[in-house]
Amino acid sequence: MPSRWGLRKHRGTGGSMYEKKELCAACGGKCCKGMPGSAFPSDFGELLLDALVEKFQSGLWVIDWWEGDPRGKGYRMAQSYFVRPAIKGANALFHPSWGGECIFLSEDGCTLPSDERPLGCKRLEPGGHSPCMYHGDGTGKNAKHEGALAWLKHQLVILQAAKLSGRR
Ligand code: SF4
Ligand code: SF4
Repeated sequence: MPSRWGLRKHRGTGGSMYEKKELCAACGGKCCKGMPGSAFPSDFGELLLDALVEKFQSGLWVIDWWEGDPRGKGYRMAQSYFVRPAIKGANALFHPSWGGECIFLSEDGCTLPSDERPLGCKRLEPGGHSPCMYHGDGTGKNAKHEGALAWLKHQLVILQAAKLSGRR
């Protein structure tokens, strides 16, 4: 069975994707074992609500949140929801976490097709060690912070999808 570790760099939906199969295979997925990559709204297409309901019902995707307001001082949100893959062994839909192994990681690498991986994963350039280089929007923020900002205008959609999914 061919390895799922990638070996290419290309333009994927919503941004660059970096894949270096040999480096990641040797590493064994330290990034994926530490924390799933952050998803962005653009990962789910134009029918965001429908897509999120389906993802939440699958049990493979969850809602995490940024503590405080990701925009910084002068803004008042207590928390800001974003979406990411689930962590192995955790069943709650609302699941704030600072660590854990991504549910999509197998011994053979990521089980998601390259184009279906979270943008936070696509933007990570393998260097053969952890942490590898994150190619964000140029502001120096990490993927979780950028993801939280990208989801700001979709907070109600996330909550509505959670309700429709029937999960808690
Ligand atoms: S930590 Fe870096 S080298 Fe290791 S699997 Fe992740 S991207 Fe690849
Ligand atoms: S989705 Fe794939 S590449 Fe991203 S953290 Fe999970 S196993 Fe790793």
